[in-house]
Amino acid sequence: MTLQEAVSARQEELLRTLQESIRIRSVQAPAEEGCPYGPGVRRCLDHALETARGLGLKAVDMDHQAGWCEYGEGEEMVAVLGHLDVVPEGDGWSFDPFGGEIRDGKVFGRGSMDDKGPTVAALYALAAIRDAGLPLRRRIRLLLGTNEETGSQDMKYYRAHGGELPVMGFTPDGEYPVINGEKGIVNMTFRRTYAQSGAVRIKRIGGGSAPNVVPAHARAEIVCPPELAEQWMAAPAEKLRVSETADGMLVEAEGVSAHGASPQEGENALGRLVRALTALPLAEDAGAAVCFLAEKLGMETDGAALGAALRDEVSGPLTLNWGTLEGDDTSLSLTVNFRYPVTKTYEDCGPAVRAAFEGAGFTLEREVHKPCLYIPQSSELVQTLLRVYAEKTGLPAAPKSIGGGTYAKAIPNVVAFGPIFPGDEVREHKPDEFIEVDKLMKNAQIIAEAMYQLAK
Ligand SMILES: [Zn+2]
Repeated sequence: MTLQEAVSARQEELLRTLQESIRIRSVQAPAEEGCPYGPGVRRCLDHALETARGLGLKAVDMDHQAGWCEYGEGEEMVAVLGHLDVVPEGDGWSFDPFGGEIRDGKVFGRGSMDDKGPTVAALYALAAIRDAGLPLRRRIRLLLGTNEETGSQDMKYYRAHGGELPVMGFTPDGEYPVINGEKGIVNMTFRRTYAQSGAVRIKRIGGGSAPNVVPAHARAEIVCPPELAEQWMAAPAEKLRVSETADGMLVEAEGVSAHGASPQEGENALGRLVRALTALPLAEDAGAAVCFLAEKLGMETDGAALGAALRDEVSGPLTLNWGTLEGDDTSLSLTVNFRYPVTKTYEDCGPAVRAAFEGAGFTLEREVHKPCLYIPQSSELVQTLLRVYAEKTGLPAAPKSIGGGTYAKAIPNVVAFGPIFPGDEVREHKPDEFIEVDKLMKNAQIIAEAMYQLAK
């Protein structure tokens, strides 16, 4: 039996297991005894491990934080990293989000694509390698994650508690062909207090919902004399709306939302707002704070004014998004989210951003840094995955770098490989999430061949 035949022979079981898995609502919930990510996630992990044991694979539950199953012999291990937790179903479904219904050649349900479908496909791919009796010189381990959607604490736990690290691996939780570069991501929260006196003052200012989203709306309530409000109302700047209030005016700015990984595709409403506010005779350090924000952030998306512009061949420029601002008459706090090129380091940009803000009286309140990921195209891992993909699909295979982060960052020596093919409709995290049966099986074939090629 060839590997391809062995995978095909498992199709019915694979579908049934995926349906069972989808029917378990594995959305993160408050921790309970034995359920660090809630009972649904635990049940889904148990289900996957029981299925693996039923297939004759070695299966291990690591304190209900994560699990793994393994096949083969050898000193070294290659890994496939999948996850069983899902995001909440949300509204707008025309199918039962936890029904696992198969209709018109598609399996519907939360997690069908992200990431239960590919994970169950990997489980049967592993069984198929055993069925086909292929000789291996490395072990193959399928890591069953349980917390990808809400912080990847599962893999932190795995690493911190002696979980073996692979010499190479991939996660079918991104897209094809191969994502071999992911920019480093930094979130910084700054705060500044100020004193205000005088006739023109900031009463409230803010906008934005998250560090990684370009804000589409921003607003400032300004205390000022009625004449000034009238003057602004008479001639508002572009994409600005000004209205009168009891003690002054409300200035609202409009922008265009975009993902924080590609801020150049949006227009930052906060930047537009503070640029406009520099025309106000704000007194003392409130005025200085607004001018600083207008000059150093404004509507810029490359960090140049902060002294943090960077670029490389593989992944392009550093991008920066000013995601949120919240302030009142005495202080303001804001977040910036920036992503540096894959061949650069935090040291090349982080200190410059920090120094610019601190030089203007801001304090760094919180910082989160996810280092970049880069595995060169010439590596055995990337070469092998590209070759398998090209052979199985007949499609062109070139690796790519992205500004977003995938699960690959959770485990060393891992890149994102599948499950989404170029041009596919992407319904992850949306209503009516589905995976086509034929693409699910295509994934199982690709995953099986990639596992085998990496481990043989
Ligand atoms: Zn995922």
